Amino acid sequence: MVLTLVEHQDGQVDELSLQALALARGLAAGEPLQALLVGPGGREAAAQLGAHGVASAQVAEDERLAAYAPAAWAQGVIELVDRLEPSAVVAAGTNRGNEVLAHVAARKELPFAANCTEVGGGPPLTVTRGRWGGSLLEEARVHGAPILLSVAPHMVAAAAVDGAGAPEIETFTPTLSEADLMVQVAEHVGTVTTGVSLAEAKVVVSGGRGVGSAEGFGMLEELAELLGAAVGCSRVVTSAGWRPHTDQVGQTGTKVSPDLYIACGISGATQHIAGCKGAKKILAINSDAEAPILASADYAVIGDLTEIIPAVTAELRKARGP
Ligand SMILES: Cc1cc2nc3c(=O)[nH]c(=O)nc-3n(C[C@H](O)[C@H](O)[C@H](O)COP(=O)(O)OP(=O)(O)OC[C@H]3O[C@@H](n4cnc5c(N)ncnc54)[C@H](O)[C@@H]3O)c2cc1C
Repeated sequence: MVLTLVEHQDGQVDELSLQALALARGLAAGEPLQALLVGPGGREAAAQLGAHGVASAQVAEDERLAAYAPAAWAQGVIELVDRLEPSAVVAAGTNRGNEVLAHVAARKELPFAANCTEVGGGPPLTVTRGRWGGSLLEEARVHGAPILLSVAPHMVAAAAVDGAGAPEIETFTPTLSEADLMVQVAEHVGTVTTGVSLAEAKVVVSGGRGVGSAEGFGMLEELAELLGAAVGCSRVVTSAGWRPHTDQVGQTGTKVSPDLYIACGISGATQHIAGCKGAKKILAINSDAEAPILASADYAVIGDLTEIIPAVTAELRKARGP
């Protein structure tokens, strides 16, 4: 049996957890799939999981689990590992998924393979996983009972299963110590967005140092609005305070997988590419014909973005009419 930690919010299952379930299904190869959901809204979210192959779901309930607490979530996983003896525990490769499994691994003295893109073969199980911010892929053999692994975001497609019924849902209360609750989320700070979420946008218009200033992003916003796109940026831009960190694409920012990623004045450092290599197509606008981004780009316009972007915007407006 394979156990998957499923993240959810307001009763809705997180897309990255659905992707983790798709990989878990392949790993289970016909064995039953169990899910663990923690905290309020868990039951509503669990009810949606039958379509993703989950036969039964365990919902950890305790008022102290209302706020995310990594060690407390790990305690829930450990109790299920001891009781259900799964062959593997899978989580989405999110900050939370990786953090919780790292706690489980430390406490159970097990190895943990983070950010896997493929699994197969064995025993021992062979995994392919991203290292160094995704700039290289490592093939590794993972030992351990259970195997602990997280699934790299946007590398495995979530897929519904035909004819699957609703899962059985059980609730349990993990035995939590004070130490398990020592670290927990105290406050949520709202993010500033233009309405289209960066992680889910179909088109992203992203700017780097070449944009020149915070004001320079005005033309990117105008283009993004016309395309129904989200605005992203490189780390140089967030470090300069031109845009908030929530807009940063890359190894230490958001990983995006749009149909089209328009990189304006971005050189294409590996740490930036780590965040946008999931894009179906990359269009680079850069004044340097030798810029590294050209190695990853499907299309390129070589020139000054302060001339090119307004020209593209004007053409789009013309094409759309008054
Ligand atoms: C541990 C670590 C983590 C990191 N994480 C990230 C991350 O998550 N995301 C990230 O982006 N970076 C990250 N970085 C930083 C990364 O290494 C690069 O420094 C950064 O991506 C460069 O940003 P840039 O492309 O905007 O700037 P630059 O590298 O300075 O490139 C600017 C580009 O703009 C072009 N240009 C200039 N003027 C114009 C113009 N008028 N018209 C058109 N083009 C023009 C230039 O030709 C150049 O190619 C990380 C670094 C480290 C060490």
